[in-house]
Amino acid sequence: MIDWSSIESKWRKRWQDEKYFETDPTEEKKFFVTVAYPYPNSPQHIGHGRTYTLADVHARFMRMRGYNVLFPMGFHYTGTPILGMARRVQENDKELIKAFRTIYKVPEQNIKEFAEPVKIASYFHQEIKSGMIEMGYSIDWRREFTTIDPIYNKFIEWQFRKLKSKNLVIQGSHPVGWCPKDQNPVSQHDTLGDVEPAFTEYVLIKFRYDKYIIPTATLRPETIFGVTNLWANPDITYKIVDVDGENWIVSVECARKLEFMNKKVVLVGEIKGSALVGKTVKVPERNEMVAILPASFVKSENGTGMVMSVPAHAPFDYQALEDIKKNSTSLEQNVLNTVRTIKPISIIQTEGYGEIPAKEVTEKFKIENQNDPHLEEATKELYGREFYEGKLRNNTGKFAGKKVADVKEDVKKWILQQNNADVLFELNDGPIRCRCGAECVVKILNDQWFLDYSNKNWKKDAHSCINEMKILPEDIRNEFNYVVDWLRERACARQHGLGTKLPWDKDWIVESLSDSVIYMAYYILAKYVNKKQITAENLGDEFFDYIFLEDGDTKKVASNCEITENLLESIRDEFAYFYPVNARHSGRDLVPNHLTFFVFNHIAIFPKKYWPEEIVVNGSVLMDGKKMSKSMGNIIPLRDAIRTYGADPIRLAILISAELLQDADFNLEAIKGIKNKLENMLEDCSKYKLNEKSNLQQEDKWLVSRLQQLVLETTLAIEKMRLREALHYVLYEFDSDMQWYLRRTNAKNRTDVSSTLHNVLSARVRMLSPFAPHIAEEMWEKLGNTGLVSKSLWPSVHRDEIDIISLQSENLLKSTMEDIRNILKVTKIIPKKIIIYTSDSWKNKAYQKILANVIKGEMSIGILIKSLISDKETELVKKDPDFVKKTVNDILSEPIESREIKSKTGFVDEKEILSELDSLVQKDFGVNVQVFSESDPQKYDPKNKARTARPFKPAILIV
Ligand SMILES: [Zn+2]
Repeated sequence: MIDWSSIESKWRKRWQDEKYFETDPTEEKKFFVTVAYPYPNSPQHIGHGRTYTLADVHARFMRMRGYNVLFPMGFHYTGTPILGMARRVQENDKELIKAFRTIYKVPEQNIKEFAEPVKIASYFHQEIKSGMIEMGYSIDWRREFTTIDPIYNKFIEWQFRKLKSKNLVIQGSHPVGWCPKDQNPVSQHDTLGDVEPAFTEYVLIKFRYDKYIIPTATLRPETIFGVTNLWANPDITYKIVDVDGENWIVSVECARKLEFMNKKVVLVGEIKGSALVGKTVKVPERNEMVAILPASFVKSENGTGMVMSVPAHAPFDYQALEDIKKNSTSLEQNVLNTVRTIKPISIIQTEGYGEIPAKEVTEKFKIENQNDPHLEEATKELYGREFYEGKLRNNTGKFAGKKVADVKEDVKKWILQQNNADVLFELNDGPIRCRCGAECVVKILNDQWFLDYSNKNWKKDAHSCINEMKILPEDIRNEFNYVVDWLRERACARQHGLGTKLPWDKDWIVESLSDSVIYMAYYILAKYVNKKQITAENLGDEFFDYIFLEDGDTKKVASNCEITENLLESIRDEFAYFYPVNARHSGRDLVPNHLTFFVFNHIAIFPKKYWPEEIVVNGSVLMDGKKMSKSMGNIIPLRDAIRTYGADPIRLAILISAELLQDADFNLEAIKGIKNKLENMLEDCSKYKLNEKSNLQQEDKWLVSRLQQLVLETTLAIEKMRLREALHYVLYEFDSDMQWYLRRTNAKNRTDVSSTLHNVLSARVRMLSPFAPHIAEEMWEKLGNTGLVSKSLWPSVHRDEIDIISLQSENLLKSTMEDIRNILKVTKIIPKKIIIYTSDSWKNKAYQKILANVIKGEMSIGILIKSLISDKETELVKKDPDFVKKTVNDILSEPIESREIKSKTGFVDEKEILSELDSLVQKDFGVNVQVFSESDPQKYDPKNKARTARPFKPAILIV
């Protein structure tokens, strides 16, 4: 047992004393890695540890590869959640206070002060910072700041004035996610479950019925030309409401949504859905009458609770009509007569579809009725094809002949102009709840300040930045491009909360997802702020222009800011040295907001050379397979966990359970296994000393070759941030190689293994160091080093030390030992003697030919046999045609690398290699081994086994 906590604090102190993580510009190449700064409204739990640990591994890895790495950290005080929390403390919220006491173990004295928001933030700020230090994160703490620091406020004011001067901050009426109870816009930080309230714009088509308007919501306004009827649900009681002077018939849910669309909505009366069935409405722009028909798929919470029917192009509509025709008994005769006359009106021509595409897809998906779950799929397929490839037919007036994708917006504008339409915004994945419990809605907000993310040129630049940058994992790139397209005007200011006031309208405070998008640049300033070399009073926009945009006259700016020209220039040079951000780490939930805003704002403000270079996105952390949440009671605060398990085991347990985008599953069993592994490794490091080098024997050459291979593979894995794979090499593959080496050398009674093992361990410890930095330092010291392993260089690959002959030989020994063990297990014989037969030379020649063919992709047994028989050297195959099939299978069951190694080395003398087997078999089974060639006339072969030998698959006889 080792004392983790004393080892960890010993090395943390050493790092601190050597100031190794304090980074200033040097002559070396730089690497600037950042991770989303924490929001201090509670301490961090194990789940938060993932992103920070990933970023720290990245930072430490790049440092060992010779980069001058900057990894800083700040704290995000801005926003409403801290305010809400303070209010709940003021109201003496029992549940919250209990959580402070029992889960977060906040001292009573501090809880009392929590009525004040800043007190909450600064308490948890210190908690989180201590946890980060205890986790061993290699952070330059001289650059710490909070988002309510006075110079930070000036920096955000500068950012907003810049955006406004480029017309990217606009005032107007736009939809936002909204909490009706708090009367505030909501974003991801404000909702339960951290859901970003995304919404979609629908066009409301106004159908006229008597003196009423029946609106229906659609994403395809162009299909009004194909409407054959409306759908109403007979079981819904609709409301008649006065909407800005018109009488609308809509569901009760829709009436409420309309209020948030800035409409004056007054209840006038109600009408049953069943009463509407059979009535006729006038289709706008076509002046034709169509009937209202009953349908159960119509839901009152979707759209207006009423649907327009386009059976030629909408599978739902087509199917609902078919259903009515089949079950007509409940319908009145006149309605039934109408249904029978309805013919789908085809208005879109799409290559590959005939007259009625909806009919074709419902048949393709074998849809049975309108409640069939596959209807969604069928709809998606058809909509996609018609949108991108479809053209409007001749019956669509002035739009005839145009492509659907090109004309959609024009149709919408045209119908709106005629006052035959309106718009409605709906949440995509509703219901979404605010942290206060209220259900969120979409509201059109007037005279609000918005970031104009719908600006087309801005979007274009965002796409090009995203397409040029490195994104890990690569699969997430499309998600970013999708978000860029989908984003529109976004409210950037609130009336409550901590933060920076809008510089031109002091009633507003910049909200938390708008003041946290370019702060990576501020880390350069923070060092000078903390040293008190610059103060807020004299700083204006010209200072920021000078530092970040190289704009302005040094003398003038320095004198206005009352700092020396030297200082001003060195801050600017430091920024130019560290920017751009080389890697930004964040959780996947921040893709639709923070990470995309980060891209947008950088390209708006900074010149292209400062645009971000890489984004790394990771999934979340589960606890024993379940989502962590306060209500589940399975939250483990990070600092508690460090005290119980040690920082390094936690770091490894989080990283080893999943690759980047997968959810990591944290469990305590895994921690125990990891602890054992590390403790054994530490013991090995004390055991094997650097002695004089002895002559390398085959197994030494093999272990050195494996070392080179593993260094190569581990390095490639980390470069792609495939940390789970990298850890697998460092912890497990190395281990099993060392085990084999020890078996081999023990069997030969060798005593000169220390040097080789020391050599392997030195590389292994260096590669462990970014992952488990504390224990790696301890191991490094045990290996006899006086410096820090964190400061050592990453092992390099010496390809010339890869000896493929020894790799192959040891593989043959390993697999033969494995085969012997399996035979003994199955037959339960107590062996007296073990005899091995290696294959005849023609088989080796045939093997090489088959191998060359398999590598080329030729695997047809018939062709292979024919070509082998036609060759004198291998014609003996006709006596043993089964040999070919078995050999192909042998080859296919091997990894591609070893196939290539075998093809490179060509013939190997298996008899010679297997002579090494004797010592191993003696050691493991206590008997002797005899090795014969299949062609040896003197061989001992009572059971006629030798003829079954194949290359790399010797035959085995145990007696
Ligand atoms: Zn709320």
